[in-house]
Amino acid sequence: MSKHICYVFFTVASGMLLSACAAQERSIRSEKSSVEAEPGRAKSQPIDIINQTLIDLSHTFNQQTIYWPTENGFRLIPEKAGITDKGYYYSSNRFMAAEHGGTHLDAPVHFNENGKPVDQLSPQQLMGEVALIDVTNACMENPDYQIGVADLRAWEQKTGRQLVDVIVLIRTGYAQHWPNRKKYLGTDRLGPEAVANLHFPGLAPEAARWLTEHRAIKAIGLDTASIDYGQSTRFESHVTLFKHQIPAFENVADMSRLPMQGATLVALPMKIGGGSGGPLRIVAWLPD
Ligand SMILES: [Zn+2]
Repeated sequence: MSKHICYVFFTVASGMLLSACAAQERSIRSEKSSVEAEPGRAKSQPIDIINQTLIDLSHTFNQQTIYWPTENGFRLIPEKAGITDKGYYYSSNRFMAAEHGGTHLDAPVHFNENGKPVDQLSPQQLMGEVALIDVTNACMENPDYQIGVADLRAWEQKTGRQLVDVIVLIRTGYAQHWPNRKKYLGTDRLGPEAVANLHFPGLAPEAARWLTEHRAIKAIGLDTASIDYGQSTRFESHVTLFKHQIPAFENVADMSRLPMQGATLVALPMKIGGGSGGPLRIVAWLPD
C-alpha cells in the first residue's frame, strides 16, 4: 500500500471523480486496484446511504421495552406539550433508563475493569460489514441453544471467508417475540428470583474464546437479551469478549432481511462518559 492515503469519492449523479487530495491519477488507480484486490477490506468507494435500502435494527424505547428482570423499565416523563403564550408549539420530556435494556451496547468495561467504556469505543469499531450467522432453526427447537464454533465455521464454509474485520450478527429469531417478555425471556416475572427462569439462546463460551483467539471481529450482536444464554450464571462469553475489547449489541431487532454477507452496519450508542453500556441505534444497508 502507498503511504499516501487518498479518500476518493464518486458522485453518483455526474459520475465525476473527485479526489480529496491532489494525487496523480496513476496513484489513485493503483490505490483503488490494491483495495479491490483484498477481499473483505473496506472499499474507499462512495457511500450513497440515502438511496440504499436501509434496515432499522433497533427496537423503539417505550413502556414495552424489555429490560433485565432486575431493572426498572424505560420511563418517559412528560414535561411540556402545548402552545406557549408566544404562540408556538413546544414539547419536551425527560427519560430514565438503565444502560442495559432495549437495543443497547455492552462496552468492555461491563465485565472487565480494564475494558473500555462506551465513550472510548471508536466509531470505526462500530461500523462495518455484517457477517450474519442464522441459527433460527436450532433456536426454535431449543430455547437454551448456544451458538457454537460449528455455527461460525458453517458461515466461513458457505462464504469461503474468515470472520475477520466484520461485525458478527447472530440471528436466533427471538426478535419476532418482542415485546412479549414470556416468550422473549422465558419468564415474565420480575426481580432477582426471576433470573433463574431465563431461557433464551446465546453465544457459547468456547465460541467466544475461538472468535477472540483465532479470528479478529470488530463487534458482535444478537437478537436476545444477553450475549450469554439465559441460563448462564458466570457470563463467560461476556468476560471473554470484553477481555479482548470486543463490544456486544443485545436485543437487536429483526434481521430477517439481512444477507449472509455484504450488508453494512452502523451501530452508534449514546456517548455516555464512563458508561458500561447504552441505548443503541443500529442501521444496516444492503449490498448493491
Ligand atoms: Zn448489556
